[in-house]
Amino acid sequence: MIKAVFFDLDDTLLWDQKSVKEAFVATCKVAEERYGLDSNQLEEAVREAARNLYSSYEFYPFTQMIGINPFEGLWGNFLDDHDDFRKMKDTVPGYRKDAWTAGLKALGVDDPEFGQELAERFPAERRKLPFLYEETFKTLDTLKGKYKLLLLTNGSPDLQNTKLTITPELVPYFDQIVISGDFGRGKPDPTIFEHALSRLSLQKDEVIMVGDNLMTDILGANRAGIKSVWINRHNKERNEVIPTFEIHHLEELFTILEKL
Ligand SMILES: [Mg+2]
Repeated sequence: MIKAVFFDLDDTLLWDQKSVKEAFVATCKVAEERYGLDSNQLEEAVREAARNLYSSYEFYPFTQMIGINPFEGLWGNFLDDHDDFRKMKDTVPGYRKDAWTAGLKALGVDDPEFGQELAERFPAERRKLPFLYEETFKTLDTLKGKYKLLLLTNGSPDLQNTKLTITPELVPYFDQIVISGDFGRGKPDPTIFEHALSRLSLQKDEVIMVGDNLMTDILGANRAGIKSVWINRHNKERNEVIPTFEIHHLEELFTILEKL
């Protein structure tokens, strides 16, 4: 008997990839207007520079354990109470400037001041563009009242709460919200799933995890002995991690839950 549904946030309920993409488009357009650069090429160059820089920082293993990606580093403030978050907070302003400046340079433009301008523009654009999937609220409306709902998200509490603040309609649906940066370990560590179970005083066979990421949501649920639903909107190939169910649209959840 399923009593609760655990939902991942990014790219399960919130369409984070689209928000990031649109923020890149808007920011790169500024460079296109100033220097006539191809905005797709600039986006690619900045993404690559960001990935390379981000993985060179001393706190990179921490970001992997908690689950914070390089593009979140391009707009998050990380005003969290923890040594590694404090290092991130101090580093990200330079990181952003360096990533945008390196992207410009890859396209033949040497202008660190403009790099700084774009670095500040991107977070403003990202905040303006919080996308959700069209079925998110319908799904939550249908489940609310029938099941306890728990949001289980990897990331910096400051940044995840920022995302929830700019999409304020989501929070009231959830009985509990668990953010990995608060707990200290991220999905796929089974302890965060156990922590989530204890927040609702439920057993592992009474809940189901819904998420888009095989290596965090589904692997973690498997390790914790929790049933899982992989939301695979883009028809990705499955790897060695096996979800209990696979769906392509959130509303397919209803028939799965009826059968359980
Ligand atoms: Mg996700």
